[in-house]
Amino acid sequence: MKALRTGTAELDRVLEERPIWKCQQCGLCSGICPSEKAGGIRPIDILTRASLGVLELDRERSLWLCAVCNSCTERCQMGVDPAEVIALLRGGAAGLGNIPKHFSEEAKLFIRSGLSFPNTGMTKKLRKDLGLDDLAIPPETMLELALLIKRTRLGELRLD
Ligand code: SF4
Ligand code: SF4
Repeated sequence: MKALRTGTAELDRVLEERPIWKCQQCGLCSGICPSEKAGGIRPIDILTRASLGVLELDRERSLWLCAVCNSCTERCQMGVDPAEVIALLRGGAAGLGNIPKHFSEEAKLFIRSGLSFPNTGMTKKLRKDLGLDDLAIPPETMLELALLIKRTRLGELRLD
């Protein structure tokens, strides 16, 4: 198989260990994909271009239209695991600066607060109405998150 041009040697190695070569182009992954039905990502197309080494990670926007529902992986009879491959490709795309604004804003908020959504006055009110405690991320959890952010290298992404 031709080497994948993902832009990072580490990601190339990870992807080369995935059995993309087992793909038989049956199209079951695309047939079940809810994103494709709505005009979003076409998993079979992504896998085909990735295996041919012609996927341009620095500009491929459809990677970000995957809903990470895992339906393609459940459907695939060949153990290709398209959802994981797409997640890895998405990570590679982010590393090359190909990351939509709303995702980078969410990542920045998560790094800053430990939450992936803003804890607004409305959030506080709704939680109070439901009898739930106010959301407060304990310092020890923030330390664990800092470790995760370091290990996953989330903090190394260009998020502006
Ligand atoms: S379901 Fe599996 S074998 Fe079929 S096209 Fe998709 S990845 Fe390839
Ligand atoms: S994980 Fe992504 S590519 Fe796979 S079926 Fe769901 S939306 Fe489609």
